[in-house]
Amino acid sequence: MNTRARKRFGQNFLTDPGIIDQIITAINPGPDDHILEIGPGRGALTEQLSRSGCRLTLIEIDRDLVASLQHKYPQDVTIHSQDVLKFDFTLLASSPPIRVVGNLPYNISTPLLFRLFASGTTFRDFTFMLQLEVVKRIVAEPSTSGYGRLSIMSQYFCDPEMLFEVPPTAFTPAPKVNSAIIRLTPRMTRNPTVKNLDVLEHLLITAFSKRRKTVRNAMSSCLSQEELLFLNIDTKARPENLTPAEFIHCANFISTREG
Ligand code: SAM
Repeated sequence: MNTRARKRFGQNFLTDPGIIDQIITAINPGPDDHILEIGPGRGALTEQLSRSGCRLTLIEIDRDLVASLQHKYPQDVTIHSQDVLKFDFTLLASSPPIRVVGNLPYNISTPLLFRLFASGTTFRDFTFMLQLEVVKRIVAEPSTSGYGRLSIMSQYFCDPEMLFEVPPTAFTPAPKVNSAIIRLTPRMTRNPTVKNLDVLEHLLITAFSKRRKTVRNAMSSCLSQEELLFLNIDTKARPENLTPAEFIHCANFISTREG
């Protein structure tokens, strides 16, 4: 399976056996699992996943790689030859809930995470290789530089845990950035609950596009100063100082106000 790596598909193939083992150990696949691998590529992770006896589903955009995978796994693996950003995850609804894994192409990782979170499908967990900088943003706490829309949305839907870093030398071709493995475990209960996700997203985009301004200025198109005071928000703080719960309270207030 040695087609040329295609840059447009973000192809950096894992070639370090030690790192591959470490990732498989972190996933700990078993025969009772249904695992969806996104972007299996040349099968660096697929091989060991399939050997675990799990039910395996693959989504791969590169038709040449799909052909090799179909040749290698003619019967026991379901392969979808398509763009994961257009995939309808509700088609996969199964019992037990699906586990999603992948060494993700970095150019689609953020939109993919948002699609997975909002898909309404019940997943057991996600184990992803992402750019280290993106992993740091996902786990970032309020009042730190990486904190923003990705941290708040990820932490609303999931409990994220950074597992370990992976150097560029683990891949062929080597990417220019460091990577890391993250596990995201969907939350069973959400407190507070978001009334309307679109309203929260709009509020977060508005607030963090002016992250150096005060909350009062950065969010003025969404909430008046009186409304912010009513919601107990420190109007002199910066958006990055507000907790996820404070953003959700603000978004829920807007949803109720707009009926
Ligand atoms: N899992 C392999 C590994 O670890 O060596 C390959 C990882 S490579 C970083 C990303 C893989 O995702 C490639 O196989 C690429 O073709 C595939 N890919 C890129 N964009 C995709 C998309 N939109 N939908 C599905 N697969 C995609």
